[in-house]
Amino acid sequence: IALTSTEIRARYLDYFASKGHVKVPSSSLVPRNDPTVMLTTAGMQQMIPYFLGRETPPGSRMTSAQKCFRTTDIDIVGNQRTLTFFEMLGNFSVGDYFKREAITFAWEFLTQVIKLPAERLHPTVHPDDAEAPGYWSEIAGYPDDAIVRLEDNWWGPPGASGPCGPDSEIYYDRGVEHGCGRADCKPGCDCERFLEIWNLVFMQYFQDRDGVRTPLPKTNIDTGMGLERLSMVVQGKESVFDTDIFRAIIDHFAQLTGVRYGQDTRVDTSLRVIADHARALVFLAADGVLPSNEGRGYIFRRVLRRAVRHGKLLGLDKPFLSIAADTVIKLMGDYYTELREQRDRIVDVLSMEEKKFSQTLNTGLQLLTELLTELRAKEVSVIPGDAVFKLYDTHGFPVELTQEIASEQGFTIDSAGFEHAMQQQQERSRAASTFSQADHETNLDEVLKRVGPTRFLGYEGVIGTGKIV
Ligand code: ATP
Ligand code: MG
Ligand code: MG
Ligand code: MG
Repeated sequence: IALTSTEIRARYLDYFASKGHVKVPSSSLVPRNDPTVMLTTAGMQQMIPYFLGRETPPGSRMTSAQKCFRTTDIDIVGNQRTLTFFEMLGNFSVGDYFKREAITFAWEFLTQVIKLPAERLHPTVHPDDAEAPGYWSEIAGYPDDAIVRLEDNWWGPPGASGPCGPDSEIYYDRGVEHGCGRADCKPGCDCERFLEIWNLVFMQYFQDRDGVRTPLPKTNIDTGMGLERLSMVVQGKESVFDTDIFRAIIDHFAQLTGVRYGQDTRVDTSLRVIADHARALVFLAADGVLPSNEGRGYIFRRVLRRAVRHGKLLGLDKPFLSIAADTVIKLMGDYYTELREQRDRIVDVLSMEEKKFSQTLNTGLQLLTELLTELRAKEVSVIPGDAVFKLYDTHGFPVELTQEIASEQGFTIDSAGFEHAMQQQQERSRAASTFSQADHETNLDEVLKRVGPTRFLGYEGVIGTGKIV
């Protein structure tokens, strides 16, 4: 029988410990002393002070399973591979080993320790990386032309300046039956055939403000592999939601709603969304994130609202997230003990916010449905900006939801009109001196940032393995 996710995590950490890596605990989802990011998006985040030489690491080799949350991925959850909250397995070298060892370790772990079939694994490199292909040939026996070059395989600093370098991503071939059928389908293709599982980042340059790169005096290694994706391939499952990490949560919701998982794509999408979001919210709450109208609190709110709406699509009219919390805690509380310690608080936060939003949602959904019916009758496919604004401003209905529902039903939103309505509102409130102006402005700014001209792209994700998310 296949390894459980708990066993996979343990084997990873133990393997790297046997190679001289110090096991470091996951840091909080709320980054410590780092104003540039909203939430932790990668295992390397807690390593930055070490990479920059500002703090002394507990060892020049470290390994961790890091709790991550990616705001930029919220809207794509529902497919086979994308989660908002996930665990990133990582090994790090601070001025210690470099490409050869990183590739050796990765190859040995995948093929010897967890015994994935070598023929399914496809390394990719950056086109400018002159060394990595040679190591892949030497260590794993790939002929040079079997190593795919991808422009995307570059990790760079979010600002103008900082450490950077090429990376090497390992893909798992799920088989032609998952492919798009195009002749040029290869790792990096956006179809479901090649699943990106591991990113090995080779930090070797310093990029200055003018974009000029000079070799770093000491090179670093930063790797990241999603535990859920690895479990999916090790356990031979169709999606991360079919692994032991999620099955109990999915089953819990399927039972609650009386639907069956795996029969209808739309139902499955909603089940996956609420399963992912429930887990994410439990972890966010455990790390002290509380719902609010800005910053990470807003991310919490946004995720919860999206979950409640998908719950509603499945016919759930009663609070369900706070109830699911115990299933999540049971599944993950052994490793992440903070879940058990914070159990009561997690349940309270979830149930309060859930109740609060339910009413807003019902009203907003009703108004939006009426509006869409009206527009359809008039053969209009763009929702006027002031209508979107009114839903948001008067009824508290989240703009992201309007956007999501609109696109599901074949509508688009007049974003310019929305922004205009927002600006007018801002001017009105400036004129009205009785308003607490500072508060109000912050609020509008936040919304503008969130909504933007087209869609919300996230505040965070400034740093992460592989790419700026
Ligand atoms: P993707 O291309 O799938 O969005 P990524 O290139 O953004 O992934 P990296 O930043 O390279 O991901 O992170 C390292 C690893 O973390 C990935 O190879 C993958 O295994 C895992 N990972 C990243 N994003 C997610 C996610 N949203 N859900 C689950 N696992 C993820
Ligand atoms: Mg990628
Ligand atoms: Mg990547
Ligand atoms: Mg990504």
